[in-house]
This record gives sequence, C-alpha cells and structure tokens, in this order.
Amino acid sequence: MIIAIDGPAASGKGTIAKRVADHFGFHCLDTGLLYRAVARDVARAGFKLDDTWAAVAFARGLDAATLDDPALRGAEAGDRASVVAKIPEVRRALLAYQRAFARREPGAVLDGRDIGTVVCPDADAKLFVTATSEVRAERRFLELRSRGDQSTSFDEVLDSILARDARDSGRADAPMKIADDAILLDTTQLDIEAAFDAAVGSIKRKIGQRAAT
Ligand code: C5P
Repeated sequence: MIIAIDGPAASGKGTIAKRVADHFGFHCLDTGLLYRAVARDVARAGFKLDDTWAAVAFARGLDAATLDDPALRGAEAGDRASVVAKIPEVRRALLAYQRAFARREPGAVLDGRDIGTVVCPDADAKLFVTATSEVRAERRFLELRSRGDQSTSFDEVLDSILARDARDSGRADAPMKIADDAILLDTTQLDIEAAFDAAVGSIKRKIGQRAAT
C-alpha cells in the first residue's frame, strides 16, 4: 500500500504524512530530507549548490542513515535543497531509494513534491496538501518566533516561501504539480487535527473505491 502526499512548503504535509503513517502502521519517508541532505553534503565539501557534477556525486553516494541530522531542519536548508532539486540527474539518482522505500510492507507514506506524479504514479491514494501562501508564511513565522528568532520579518518569510514555490513549480524536471488523480486538501482554514481527519477520511474513501473496482 502506497500513500503519496505532495504539496508546497509549510502546507502541513509533513505532519499529516507522519500522522497518517502512524494511523495505518505504515513506514514514512519525508523525501525533502533527501534533497536537503544532498545540499548539505555539497556545501560542506565546499562546492556551489548548482555544481551539477558535485551534486550528482553526493546524491549517488547519499547515506540515508544521516537523514535525522538536525542541520537538515529549517527553512534555509529547504531553500538550499530546492537548488539541487532542479538538477535532473540528482532527481534520477534519488529515485531508486524512494521507490524501494515505497514498496516496504505493510505500506508506506511518502511526502514531497513529485511523489504522485513521478516517484509513485501508481500510488493507492494521492493527496495534494496546500494552503494560501500567506497562511503558510504565517505558520512558518510563528514557528520561528517560538524558537526565539525575533529578527526575521513576516515579509521575509513570505518572500522566501514564494521564491521556493516558484523554483519548485517552475523547474523543468518533475515540477511540483497536482497529479490528475490526487485529492486536493486545502488546510488554509484547518488546524492540524482537522487536516489529519480530512486526510484519513479521503484516503480511506480512495482505498475503498479502488478495492471496489
Ligand atoms: O519538503 P521540503 O521542504 O523538506 O523540501 C525541500 C526541497 O526539496 C523542496 O523545496 C524541493 O525543492 C525539494 N523536493 C523535491 N522533491 C521532493 C521533495 C523535496 O524537489 N519529492
């Protein structure tokens, strides 16, 4: 059983994915961490993020055991990830790991930008989680404040969300987009509990429909 959850930054997709995986007893992979880790490794080795040769080499040699590194958290690591994520060979190098993960029993939830469209086009259920850019920026802004960051303004956070959306939707290879058969979940007006309930309800309906056909 494969559940694909895509959507833009700060839409709530990561939290929803983890909770959905817990609910069904499935494995969960935050695929953004793969791109974040490649960007970390490229930068640490002293290369520029858009150095294709270096990025591909680090993507091919990525050690999945390093994905729980706290340095991968945060919006800055996400922004850097979106630079290496534009490189088609990097995306190709990370594909086999994601597809192998998706086949894990009894099931897997993968969240990212291209899970329903490219990584697992045959997923049993696909969600595209979104929210207005203002609400996503507000969530990120409040998160920064709660972590003691008083210096980043709301406008800076909004600009960075908009820039990342543009990079992720505008790239030529595997751009972020809603799969034709994905269920759209707009969390603009929802708190996390309501978003989780809506996600589980949609997934159960979808799986039920597939089983009936
Ligand atoms: O989801 P997260 O914010 O951690 O992703 C960081 C970046 O990695 C995204 O902005 C995107 O550029 C890239 N990414 C991707 N495809 C995925 C997951 C993440 O291109 N499946």
